[in-house]
Amino acid sequence: MPSQLDIVIIGAGLSGLAASIQCALSGHTVTVLESARELAEIGAGLQLTPNATRLLHKWGVYQNISGPTEPRTCSVISYKGKLLAHEDRFDENIRRKYGAPFADCHRVDLQQALVKRAKELGVQVLLNKRVIGLDFEAGVGDEEGPPCVSISLENGGTIEADLIVGADGLWSTCRSALLGVRDAPLPTGDLAFRIVLNIEQIQDEKLRKMVQEPAVRFWIGPDAHVVAYSMRGGSVYNVVLLVPDDLPESVARTEGSLEEMRGLFEGWDPVLTQLLECVDKVDKWKLMHRPTLPSWINAQSNTVLIGDSCHPMLPYLAQGANSSIEDGAVLGLLLSPPHYAAKTQLPQTLQLFQELRKARGEAIQRETFKQRRDFHLRDGEEQRERDELFERWLGKEVKGSFPSRWTCPEVQPWLYGYDAEKEVDAVLSKAEEKP
Ligand SMILES: Cc1cc2nc3c(=O)[nH]c(=O)nc-3n(C[C@H](O)[C@H](O)[C@H](O)COP(=O)(O)OP(=O)(O)OC[C@H]3O[C@@H](n4cnc5c(N)ncnc54)[C@H](O)[C@@H]3O)c2cc1C
Repeated sequence: MPSQLDIVIIGAGLSGLAASIQCALSGHTVTVLESARELAEIGAGLQLTPNATRLLHKWGVYQNISGPTEPRTCSVISYKGKLLAHEDRFDENIRRKYGAPFADCHRVDLQQALVKRAKELGVQVLLNKRVIGLDFEAGVGDEEGPPCVSISLENGGTIEADLIVGADGLWSTCRSALLGVRDAPLPTGDLAFRIVLNIEQIQDEKLRKMVQEPAVRFWIGPDAHVVAYSMRGGSVYNVVLLVPDDLPESVARTEGSLEEMRGLFEGWDPVLTQLLECVDKVDKWKLMHRPTLPSWINAQSNTVLIGDSCHPMLPYLAQGANSSIEDGAVLGLLLSPPHYAAKTQLPQTLQLFQELRKARGEAIQRETFKQRRDFHLRDGEEQRERDELFERWLGKEVKGSFPSRWTCPEVQPWLYGYDAEKEVDAVLSKAEEKP
């Protein structure tokens, strides 16, 4: 293929692996450089939404994730234990509306399924390769195409590429190289206590039964909320507690204190506090974000950013990974023949990518902050109005704007209905129509 590119993806997180699959499917030579010595996605559970599962399914990845669990219900409970919103047949409704599932899984299970598919497609995944610098003007490039990029590795050596995909996450080196300055992520003001409970840790029969049900539950209260769901077929329960950040500026992650964690939720719904009694280990994560960038592409059109490196967000809509998977798909699809036919087209192709992805990524970022506002209201007038709105629709099909965007008919279709393939087809047809 004359237009074939040597693509180097920096980072084997969920965005990098997704991009590697779609770029390989488009016929390019793809190498993924990962700084870690082994692939073991940090963290625990992950909620996958139809905007990503439809892609994972097409790639043959979804079928290989072990134990994806489709929640049958989705509920919002006030911190005092009152049911505010509840959707039965959540799983069926989602499949009917979007033609793809909503599923909860373990991150490692997804990462392994992605790596397996990437390797089947000939992608080289190289571990223990920390990238420390990029030279955007290293080579002349082919004919009139952009110059090659040279990648410097921490343990010595350099690698050349036609195109670099910066998928190196929140602390991205590629982002710094593109900006020409090292800018640190910013605190969002919140942190997450992350908990994984094995079913054996729950002795109480009633609680154990509840945890085994495939369900997503939110508890919402002043300045805080909790999201909990079962995964791996009900054998593991994932709980995330979102609270104001009290970690020192220099600490991004640490082991949390069980006493402190329980203290923060004292007086909340007894079902939740009973659940927290079963916890024997918790991690405390500062939730960070980044200002929006003027561009996700460098001036030489040989480097592009995707995922958390360019649109990190609060995890309050579970869209960080899902939208990063969309990024990878859109990039790879735009780089596929016949519309992508020569290296000289790389600048326009990356511009099209940015047109399709930047506004959406940044809009989702903003929406996560709106969800924080609606979930974290302190007791008072606004909270009462919110709860009245919740309760007005309890047991009915929600219409109009709704404080939980997980079921809001104005936001959910925009998030879950996104079809990367259709978006690419539409933008390409439009480009062809132009004289
Ligand atoms: C508490 C919490 C819960 C969340 N829940 C969800 C959820 O349910 N659903 C969802 O969609 N999202 C969720 N997210 C967000 C999601 O985890 C991230 O948005 C997603 O993992 C970003 O993927 P990424 O590939 O862009 O970055 P990362 O996952 O950070 O991957 C970057 C990779 O690059 C590697 N790397 C970094 N620097 C270098 C370098 N210099 N050289 C080589 N390799 C490098 C890293 O080792 C890493 O493997 C959650 C986040 C948090 C904090």
